[in-house]
Amino acid sequence: MQEKTFKSKYSFNGKKRNNNSRHNFFGKRQNNTQELETSRYVRKAVSGALPEEYIPKNQFSNFEVSSQLKKNIAEHGYVKPTPIQDQVIPIILQGRDLLGIANTGTGKTASFLIPLIEKILKNKNERVLIITPTRELALQIVDELKAFSKSLNIYSAICIGGSGISNQIFALKRNPNFVIGTPGRLKDLINRRCLNLSTVSNVVLDEVDRMLDMGFVNEIKHLISLLPAKRQSLFFSATVSKEADNLIGRLLTNPVKISVKSGDTPDNVEQDVVRVKDKSKKIESLHDLLIKEEFKKVLIFGRTKRGVEHLSNTLRERGFKAGSIHGNKSQAKREQVLRLFKTNQLQTLVATDVAARGLDIADITHVINYDPPATYDDYIHRIGRTGRANKTGKALTFIG
Ligand code: AMP
Repeated sequence: MQEKTFKSKYSFNGKKRNNNSRHNFFGKRQNNTQELETSRYVRKAVSGALPEEYIPKNQFSNFEVSSQLKKNIAEHGYVKPTPIQDQVIPIILQGRDLLGIANTGTGKTASFLIPLIEKILKNKNERVLIITPTRELALQIVDELKAFSKSLNIYSAICIGGSGISNQIFALKRNPNFVIGTPGRLKDLINRRCLNLSTVSNVVLDEVDRMLDMGFVNEIKHLISLLPAKRQSLFFSATVSKEADNLIGRLLTNPVKISVKSGDTPDNVEQDVVRVKDKSKKIESLHDLLIKEEFKKVLIFGRTKRGVEHLSNTLRERGFKAGSIHGNKSQAKREQVLRLFKTNQLQTLVATDVAARGLDIADITHVINYDPPATYDDYIHRIGRTGRANKTGKALTFIG
């Protein structure tokens, strides 16, 4: 990852800075940087700033999809299309390739699932591959797919690491319509000759920026190279780096580009810092926050797997209902802890960045950056876990 340095003429309180004061976002602070660091993490929620209501051009009822699919969408509780659904569903239904610039929480999952389900209903021989950065995102997509494909005889296989491979091999033998998986496990299944991509004429790459951050570039290139030339390809990413651009060139043919990115920092997340000069007092400050009434459902970010596990144990010893999620946990444990957190049986979930990617959990009241994020992008991604679905959330970042 590239290190970023940046300069600012003014500190956050508006006073002119000493010139040449630089801040290295990853490492050591240099003079006058504390204010800068602080300024990036402090922002009032814009009062009443719930996003302006979007008036879609389409209704779910007038998309050209089957009536059972429309019924399933309605039963899933979706009344009107989100901006990305409004714009993207007709394009995919036309069979075009798509470059979708969208972050999580925009409703992009349904924007590709609905037209792809319709495509399968028209031709049961169609096969779809969906590649995601994380196991959790893959599971969320499968859940949504199951809801939309009720009573439609559409089958899927989930191919993710951390769970037994034999069930996945069994599911693939049934020649499912949808295969949803993470790059490493998909590659493994291909190497074992349990998955053949030569007949997969529809592919979705979801959260490509995250996959690249996680170092999956070669796996993705390899997977693309195994797909038939005649295919429909959909590419979703919040940002398009040079590396992503290279993948776009390999994957897409004459794509339609749709961008529905929301602003840099979510307006409905109140952001502030917690200053702790003495490191040994950090846990006490966290404890003091968590005992407050309003800290009902708190996602805490730590930097390392070990640190996350340690913090969650410490919180449990202190009597908090805490769990952890990170890459060293088995898939079954990760799913269990997520279920407990989602159903409010845990007050706090301590997570690493990677494990928390793509999580869609309702009603998180607070995001706490116990360890600072590695990049500002990570910061935006972390705090986006709260303030979802037009609710106001709070984000607190510990600084020294
Ligand atoms: P996604 O960006 O696909 O992860 O979706 C984010 C959240 O919005 C999920 O909880 C979806 O269930 C929800 N969602 C997506 N589309 C709609 C819609 N049209 N109406 C209501 N909720 C939606």
